[in-house]
Amino acid sequence: MEKNWAGNVTYRATEIHHPATLADLRSTIAKSRQIRALGTRHSFNELANTGGELVSLARMPKFVEFDTGAPSVKVSADLRYSQFVEDLDKKGFALPNLASLPHISVAGAIATATHGSGSGNGSLSTSVAGLEIVTADGSSVTLNRGDDDFDGAVVNLGALGVVTSVTLDLVPAFEIRQYVHEGLPLAADILGVLDGAYSVSLFTDWSGDTINQVWVKQRTQDPEFIPDGTTPADGPRHPIPGMATENCTQQLGVPGRFFERLPHFRPEFTPSAGEELQTEFMVARNDAVAALQAINEIREHIHPVLQISEIRAIKADQLWLSPYYQRDTVSIHFTWIADGTVVMPVISMVSERLAEFDARPHWAKIFDIAPEVLQSRYERLQDFDDLARRLDPAGKFRNEFVAEILSPR
Ligand SMILES: Cc1cc2nc3c(=O)[nH]c(=O)nc-3n(C[C@H](O)[C@H](O)[C@H](O)COP(=O)(O)OP(=O)(O)OC[C@H]3O[C@@H](n4cnc5c(N)ncnc54)[C@H](O)[C@@H]3O)c2cc1C
Repeated sequence: MEKNWAGNVTYRATEIHHPATLADLRSTIAKSRQIRALGTRHSFNELANTGGELVSLARMPKFVEFDTGAPSVKVSADLRYSQFVEDLDKKGFALPNLASLPHISVAGAIATATHGSGSGNGSLSTSVAGLEIVTADGSSVTLNRGDDDFDGAVVNLGALGVVTSVTLDLVPAFEIRQYVHEGLPLAADILGVLDGAYSVSLFTDWSGDTINQVWVKQRTQDPEFIPDGTTPADGPRHPIPGMATENCTQQLGVPGRFFERLPHFRPEFTPSAGEELQTEFMVARNDAVAALQAINEIREHIHPVLQISEIRAIKADQLWLSPYYQRDTVSIHFTWIADGTVVMPVISMVSERLAEFDARPHWAKIFDIAPEVLQSRYERLQDFDDLARRLDPAGKFRNEFVAEILSPR
């Protein structure tokens, strides 16, 4: 049976289609009663699963089309970032941010509001300027920024149809230096540290009152940022102690192109641990210090089942299902050991501790929040449901995961 990247989800689909042309894709969708798109399978929960059919765009023609005037690039939706970021750089352009791994598809990343870090950087979904979607009857819909439905359609959980192309805004190419500093006291000015450079990630195993590593990614023209109280790492580091550092992008301040430094992991190696489960909660920036304190109070439960935690900053946006909707955000991520039986009770505990902060979960990671509670944290959920029903009246793209989130009206 086919599984997701982490191996914790077995796809129940009766068939996985691999259309080779847009016409094939359209007729596959039109004929199907229940179908969903599958990207590079990096989500950790039932979001991509269905008892109906799945469709992969892996055999469809690939394209990377520049509009140097805009500037923007239109790419096939199933391309992995690693497959086109170097092309952008060669033309003198960049994306403002990337996730920790470049292995994921563009469509899967934007469907779930995948993010990197940086107080001034929105999620990867905020780079989207346009989308082409094959909807339930097999016809194509194009939505561009400024269209009525656009803000609802980017973070779409795969529930509106199959995205076939994505147009992304570009910025001028830039270089990054990446440094790792160790031993930041948890009592430090965490927000000040997150604001200290273009992209900052804090890694802790919650074993004590210290953030183990601060990953600082700064543009080469910016002044060097060394968080107070830390010591520069004396060699390359992996966020998870003991893992091979060759899997990670180059550190120690060696300048590199944006795509060689913004991700933590290199495309040719396994990202993160490989054997793991992941959870992430997003809280308002103003609540971040209190939320981290709440997590610290239950660290003796977290540490034994954790590989590493990562804390990042994400700028607010206007996308309806974005966890950063109208809220400058700090995300608190957990890479757990690969054992759901011991990890699930701790996820519930974390979720309860963060309830007072109206924490919004990462759509693609494991969480345990009642649908009505989740609905109360996404004020545009009803608008998204209306949009989904308009584009997909029979609920062809609505699997159990999505139905549960959208259900009570
Ligand atoms: C090691 C690791 C590190 C990660 N790091 C980060 C990180 O730094 N930041 C972060 O925010 N997340 C991170 N993630 C989570 C990851 O970004 C999300 O799981 C993302 O959805 C993966 O994209 P995918 O193509 O694998 O999607 P899949 O798991 O294949 O699918 C996810 C969703 O996207 C939908 N979808 C996929 N393709 C299409 C399409 N063509 N049209 C419509 N819907 C589509 C699917 O139907 C499904 O609902 C990480 C995951 C892993 C495994």
